[in-house]
Amino acid sequence: MARLQGKSILLVISGGIAAYKALELIRLLRKDGAMVRGILTAGGQQFITPLSVASLTEQPCYTDLFSLKDETEMGHIRLSREADLILIAPASANLIAQMANGIADDLASTVLLAADKPAMIAPAMNHMMWLNAATQDNIAKLTARGAIIVGPVEGDMACGEYGPGRLSEPADIRDAVVNFFSADKPLAGLSAVVTSGPTYEPLDPVRFIGNRSSGKQGHAIAAALADAGATVTLVTGPVAIPDPRGVKTVHIETAAQMLDAVQVALPADIAVCAAAVSDWRAASTPDQKIKKAKGAPPPALALTENPDILATIAASGPRRPALVVGFAAETQNLLPAAAAKRTAKNCDWIVANDVAAEKVFGADDNHVYLVTASGTAEWPRAGKDMVAKKLAQEIATHFLNKPKHPQAAE
Ligand code: C5P
Repeated sequence: MARLQGKSILLVISGGIAAYKALELIRLLRKDGAMVRGILTAGGQQFITPLSVASLTEQPCYTDLFSLKDETEMGHIRLSREADLILIAPASANLIAQMANGIADDLASTVLLAADKPAMIAPAMNHMMWLNAATQDNIAKLTARGAIIVGPVEGDMACGEYGPGRLSEPADIRDAVVNFFSADKPLAGLSAVVTSGPTYEPLDPVRFIGNRSSGKQGHAIAAALADAGATVTLVTGPVAIPDPRGVKTVHIETAAQMLDAVQVALPADIAVCAAAVSDWRAASTPDQKIKKAKGAPPPALALTENPDILATIAASGPRRPALVVGFAAETQNLLPAAAAKRTAKNCDWIVANDVAAEKVFGADDNHVYLVTASGTAEWPRAGKDMVAKKLAQEIATHFLNKPKHPQAAE
């Protein structure tokens, strides 16, 4: 296979035990036809040598910003200009921080600052470094600027700890590169907003109303839309799963915050509301924890209705996305209820699933029906990732035949 024939990739290898995996990555990229040039940071050189990178790439390996030899042979500006993609694997927390903040103090960071190409970043670090708010803020900044983040994945760390922070497997990084160059981006040029997960509605400073939504389906949809080329904002409630790659993720807790974040993400061409939004919130939330008084009856819970985010998006006039997709989880009369919901909320499509018959919340697969103006299609039970891919394909087909500007529901 030579899916990367004619593509030139500049591979920046930074410090970390995972640097050895970059050698396998070079082999895989070249096997697929890519021309690879390597930059090895000083940290990277603690783990692998320029000679191994040069041998595998069959190109000089660049290491030094102020090397007369490197600069005369291939200046740092040309290094980035001549690449079709700049791939940073492994990307250390430090290099990510430099990229996010425009710091250029060595060859790798200078090339990255001077680049006019998209960057694909495969982070690798200790899980606490990855989860640190500083790293997460840096990643959010880079994603917002168009960087594609591949991984990291969860697993055992070289330091003996366990968590998210392992470099993605070289084959998975190679697949992300192939996907990047794939002409098959039917949603390129379109933007999407996706809601996912539960909302938490506070009762007092320590208690809340929530639900069992895992966010798996909504997150998979955001990832599938991004894979298909859309620019995606995911607005998610509290979930235990990682942010999908290639997607701008906004974390919220309450329905009101979800609505605010969705409004910020509009206008968009596509809206998919997969979140399990709490229908109600407490009418008032005391500043102090509600106390249990001895002998006193339990406190009455006064609730008030939350805004319906899906219905609000579908009623947003000229800012209404051209395609608005809602979900319906029902325990009885699934299809009539889903069809009624489609009309009542003025959305174009409803993805319906029966949550009584089958375990859906938290499960890895899903059995759904797609309810549109032209009828209902039953989809075979499949993994949530596959359901997401199929939905992205349906959306792509819809836009093949439709203008992109906002329109009323059919
Ligand atoms: O009315 P119901 O909650 O069954 O509708 C489900 C659909 O409406 C889902 O797409 C869900 O994301 C959306 N929804 C919403 N805001 C709410 C309630 C539901 O966006 N407050």
